[in-house]
Amino acid sequence: MSVTFCPAPPAGGPVELGASLECPAYPPTDRRYFADYDAAVAGLTDHDRYCTDPDCGEHAYRPFVVVHYSTDTDPSLNVSNRNAMLLLRALGLVAELGAADVHEPPPGGATAPPPDADTPLVGELTAEQMLGRVELALALAPADAGVPVQDRGVAGTVVDFGRQAGYLQDRLIVLREVALFARDQARDVIWH
Ligand SMILES: [Zn+2]
Repeated sequence: MSVTFCPAPPAGGPVELGASLECPAYPPTDRRYFADYDAAVAGLTDHDRYCTDPDCGEHAYRPFVVVHYSTDTDPSLNVSNRNAMLLLRALGLVAELGAADVHEPPPGGATAPPPDADTPLVGELTAEQMLGRVELALALAPADAGVPVQDRGVAGTVVDFGRQAGYLQDRLIVLREVALFARDQARDVIWH
């Protein structure tokens, strides 16, 4: 369960740049670069002329085609759901419940909306808006003291893997890179 912050796909979708073959050989010896997926599939047939790895092609170790897109090198930030909530809160993107939001259920008991109806773990902002929120959060958020790892030991129940001090600021700085990149490309910032 994780959330990725990244630039929205470019208008018209990612551009296909070409394709190559991947296999267990490391470093790879078949470094051919193909124009597209179909050419790479054709290239699979004589992969063994370029590859000397004895395990290649055996059982699970079959070479396969990897298509490369213009977006492959886009910066992105991947965090756990829990840390995504930490970030989204710092960015002011989580609607916090206040006293004014607490209502007595009406007589007759209308059902409350499901709590996750409006999950903030999926969203989109213009790069400019995201950049503004990141800068504000960096200016306002107190230094993240982190959370110590809690190890309940004996029973083996580890309830929390902790968080390094400075974690929030570090991630906000990465998110700023994502937003700057998106802005340069006139793309939005999405998270999902
Ligand atoms: Zn190979």
